[in-house]
Amino acid sequence: MSQLPLGPDSRTETLRRLQPLLVQRFGHIRRAAAERRAPEWTLVQGVIGARTKSEISNAATDRLLTRFKTWEGVAEAPIDELHDALATQTYPNVAAERLKASLTDLVARRGSVDLSHLETMATEAAMDWLEQLPGVGRKIAAGVMNASTLDRPVLVLDSHHRRILQRMGLVPAKADTARAYAAIMPVMPPEWRAADYDEHHLLMKKVGQTWCRPARPDCANCVAQSLCATGRGENPKATAAAR
Ligand code: SF4
Repeated sequence: MSQLPLGPDSRTETLRRLQPLLVQRFGHIRRAAAERRAPEWTLVQGVIGARTKSEISNAATDRLLTRFKTWEGVAEAPIDELHDALATQTYPNVAAERLKASLTDLVARRGSVDLSHLETMATEAAMDWLEQLPGVGRKIAAGVMNASTLDRPVLVLDSHHRRILQRMGLVPAKADTARAYAAIMPVMPPEWRAADYDEHHLLMKKVGQTWCRPARPDCANCVAQSLCATGRGENPKATAAAR
């Protein structure tokens, strides 16, 4: 029996309609300056960034390079100097230890802190390669692939972004970040380029900070309300299950 062709997934249309609403509310978000888009810079920024605001991690990443001159210099720095250099991070000790471990491993694999080989790799294979480094999970790997000059259309999904997608009924309610990523990536608008993914993630962070906070979402004021299962008063679990 021949199968009827599947129509476009409604989640794709939801994401397409959501983006201009968010741009209208928050404005376009500019991508980082060129010196903050080297893959090695984005890797370090991700590894030290646990539970720390992006601006603070950005500044700390710049300071590391200024203080130790090269990323190899950072890899070789004594751990107490790294603690000191990362004092602005929420967990300086964890950040220092993760950074030391990941850069040391990278130097052991590549001879230096160099990710240029990722340019010729397929996106999934490159992310798998990155995830072998200590302290590098899917979110950091996606950040390196998307926000750097590698410019791949990959979604950076953190727990805040996942929470919003779950409340909207776009990914399963109990999905962890890896499952949520697997659920949403196939329905991302195919015309979106890396910069659109980057902007989408940064705009969704603003949704999380402005209305969709962890404890109690302020749906009545949220611009996503009509596109969101929770905002429409539906059960997001049922909406996601019906996909
Ligand atoms: S409508 Fe409510 S649940 Fe949906 S994204 Fe906005 S604040 Fe979150």
